[in-house]
Amino acid sequence: MPDGTPTGRFAPSPTGELHFGSLVAAVGSFLQARHQGGRWLVRIEDLDPPREVPGSAERILADLRRFDMTPDGEVVRQSSRQAAFDEALARLASRGLLFPCACTRSELPPGPYPGTCRNGLPAGREGRSLRVRTPDQPIVLHDAVQGEVTENLSETCGDFVVRRADGLVAYQLAVVVDDAWQGVTEVVRGADLLSSTPRQRYLQRVLDLPSPSYMHLPVVRDAEGHKLGKRHGADPVAQQAPLKALGAALSFLGHAPPAHGSLQERWNWALAHWNPERIPRSGATHTDRDGQTVYSSHERSEKDA
Ligand SMILES: [Zn+2]
Repeated sequence: MPDGTPTGRFAPSPTGELHFGSLVAAVGSFLQARHQGGRWLVRIEDLDPPREVPGSAERILADLRRFDMTPDGEVVRQSSRQAAFDEALARLASRGLLFPCACTRSELPPGPYPGTCRNGLPAGREGRSLRVRTPDQPIVLHDAVQGEVTENLSETCGDFVVRRADGLVAYQLAVVVDDAWQGVTEVVRGADLLSSTPRQRYLQRVLDLPSPSYMHLPVVRDAEGHKLGKRHGADPVAQQAPLKALGAALSFLGHAPPAHGSLQERWNWALAHWNPERIPRSGATHTDRDGQTVYSSHERSEKDA
């Protein structure tokens, strides 16, 4: 599918309702692609059946429709992509980069994988997961909002899991394979996923896949400072008027829109005014006197100071 068109994507997991944090990621990825005349795709990351909430994917897609966010092309479900993930695992194996690991979570110390099974399984043990070998060298990437990110994987996570003990492909591998297959050139998502990016960049390199550019948006936190998560059931977007929720998402991203206008006018304004340099690096929330949550984000200049 890659043809040079700027291509962004929104990739929710169907583990709950679309909440304000995921709306921010959807809006950011949509505007970054469309303001360049590019394509915006939606991919349902349904690779973890035990965590899936029935009907969640359909409700997320219905929410996007209410916001007039129409994907270009069919919605892809990762559960239909197992053959491609198996092929990527085979490619890693053929390059000598894959090894079976017998360690259970409780056997592993905190910090990077100690390399227990790197040179063969311990006697009498069976492989549970598959890990990819990581080199002792820094991975450097530039993020359009967060700046330069440098990580030596051998110091932070070590050889990491690409196929889990339950047989499911790991998130890091699936994302990399599908971003390349869908021709994604710009990954725009929450900064909670920034720490995954060096691992993904490494997998792109060893799988000979193109590397998209990255933009990690400020994380939306609740009044206690926790990341707003679907599992907390926080603020489902479905209960909010799209015009108001879109205005709040734009304001959070440093693009406060004019107070009046229709949903279409608000989108037109946002497409005309979108400028990634206005996006703050970190987010915050507070609750106003009416007990209604108001989202705000720090100006980038504060963080830079
Ligand atoms: Zn091991």
